[in-house]
Amino acid sequence: MVKGIGAHMPTSKGVHKVPGETRKIGGNAFQIFPHNPRSWRANLLKDETARCFKKSMEREELDFNNAFAHSGYLINLASPNEENWRKSVECLKQEVRICHQLGIKYLNIHPGSHLGAGEEFGISQIQRALDEVLAELGDLGVVILLENVTPKGGNIGHTIKQLARIRNGCAYKELIGMTFDTCHGFDSGYDVRDKNAVDRLLKEIDVLLGIERLKMIHLNDSMNPLGSGKDRHAPIGEGHIGDEGFRVFLSFEALRNVPLIVETPGSNEEHAKDIERIKEILASIGVV
Ligand code: MN
Ligand code: MN
Ligand code: ZN
Repeated sequence: MVKGIGAHMPTSKGVHKVPGETRKIGGNAFQIFPHNPRSWRANLLKDETARCFKKSMEREELDFNNAFAHSGYLINLASPNEENWRKSVECLKQEVRICHQLGIKYLNIHPGSHLGAGEEFGISQIQRALDEVLAELGDLGVVILLENVTPKGGNIGHTIKQLARIRNGCAYKELIGMTFDTCHGFDSGYDVRDKNAVDRLLKEIDVLLGIERLKMIHLNDSMNPLGSGKDRHAPIGEGHIGDEGFRVFLSFEALRNVPLIVETPGSNEEHAKDIERIKEILASIGVV
């Protein structure tokens, strides 16, 4: 069996509902936003809320290693605008604190966009941001996961090399891991349907970061063909990766211990179908 399967979950009914809802859709892993992702506001939670959440994790017998948070959309750690960069750093700090309150160990971020200032400058901005956040809050033990993104709008981190360069230049490397998003990877030219390409990809991750740094897979199908860079997620099996593509991708032993999280269109109902489909794919390759 794989370590974890689940979806990005809404927290609109309260974060303490997430573990139960995860079970209802057939999952044992999940990802949440620690606050409204379209707002700079990120208030700390009431102690009562955090306590309730931890209690439901226990009740549903979910593993905290399968619980992830995804950073807000406004944050841009690579921003060349100092005011925006500062707001991003402070917002990320709040997110780390909220994760700590909930007992969530992994906070997934998009590395950032240099907005035209160039990759070198962008990478140094990201490193400066992560150094500050982790110097102040590293003791909380929250691990930052750099997610591979698509090569549009000055995004940094559409190649494994870029993710590794960011991490390797940071002062607190031990608190930095990565997420691989299959749709974003496919968009960036990593053919996750092809056995040799996946083999190369996993070797690249292992050489540049260490495969044990890969803490989460965002398992998303893609509405667009290989290398299109458009970032449109499709339901599992309904896009250009397809059931057969995921069968190849998921057949790799190295991925067995990495939780799979879908960020596909729709909400819990659709995600239950995606999870079911992943389980069927896994069963078809003898992983049960
Ligand atoms: Mn993301
Ligand atoms: Mn993703
Ligand atoms: Zn995406």
